[in-house]
Amino acid sequence: MPVLGEETPGGGGAESPRAETEAAGSAARPRRGGVLPLCANPRCASGWLRLWRPRQTPVFEGGWLCGAACTRAAVLAAVAREMDGRQEEPAPHRHRIPLGLMLVSQGAISPEQLKAALCRQKASGGRLGMWLRREHGVEERVVTRALAAQWGCPVLLLGNHSPAKMASLVPRLFLDIFGVLPLRQAGARLLYVGYADGIDRCVDFAIERMTGLRVVAGLVDGAEFARAHGRLLEEAFPPARLIEAASRDALAASFTRILEASKPAESRLVRIRDYYWLRMWRQRPGTDARLDAVEDVLGSLAGPGC
Ligand SMILES: [Zn+2]
Repeated sequence: MPVLGEETPGGGGAESPRAETEAAGSAARPRRGGVLPLCANPRCASGWLRLWRPRQTPVFEGGWLCGAACTRAAVLAAVAREMDGRQEEPAPHRHRIPLGLMLVSQGAISPEQLKAALCRQKASGGRLGMWLRREHGVEERVVTRALAAQWGCPVLLLGNHSPAKMASLVPRLFLDIFGVLPLRQAGARLLYVGYADGIDRCVDFAIERMTGLRVVAGLVDGAEFARAHGRLLEEAFPPARLIEAASRDALAASFTRILEASKPAESRLVRIRDYYWLRMWRQRPGTDARLDAVEDVLGSLAGPGC
């Protein structure tokens, strides 16, 4: 029989790995009746105790959900949170000094070389660094160092790149779309990611919220980046499904169906630019999520006005 208990705000405690990482807002906080968890949907009418239900999953963002209607309510709240949470994203980076001027000031190129490279770029497109390398023999590492100074980030080396472990952290699609390369994990808390041309703070932010790891982003020399990217793509990535929906309701309905069918022991939703990234764990996640224990669903909204 349903039993109603006192709601303890933010009482996820040991039930919720999210409570430790503070990975995403306040939606779908797990509730407890005394020491026993209740359905995480704050508007749940059943008052079911998890203990008395044969159903122990799905768990979404640290909260157990008693039925499909409550799963849908929790997912809809999370989709709305992600959709409306654009102000949480880091502000776009503004370079203080253009790359060309920085290279001139460092004595790496002459003003004439810069002028010629800018003309080539204007006529043929491409990146300034590419033309400086191709037409004026500027070394790649010199351009990368100057880019890193522009972005205020480190130049990262690939010494301990561990592709097999990194492949479980981010869906393969994101490597191609966002040009991000997970490089290595340091200890239990830190994740180094590399980019070839510039840092995408929004991508870093989403990876932090999903993995609970603090992301340190830096630039990697182009040739090294391409080599490491190729090595990573040879690895097996977690299975991923792509879904497209016409509205936030339809997107929430699709995620709900998948959660109800997959019954994950934990799942989280974050938005990464135009993608809603739902990750499901068969077992409750640690920072070393195993490849075979994770599944990704990447949702996007189609059509104008979404
Ligand atoms: Zn419920």
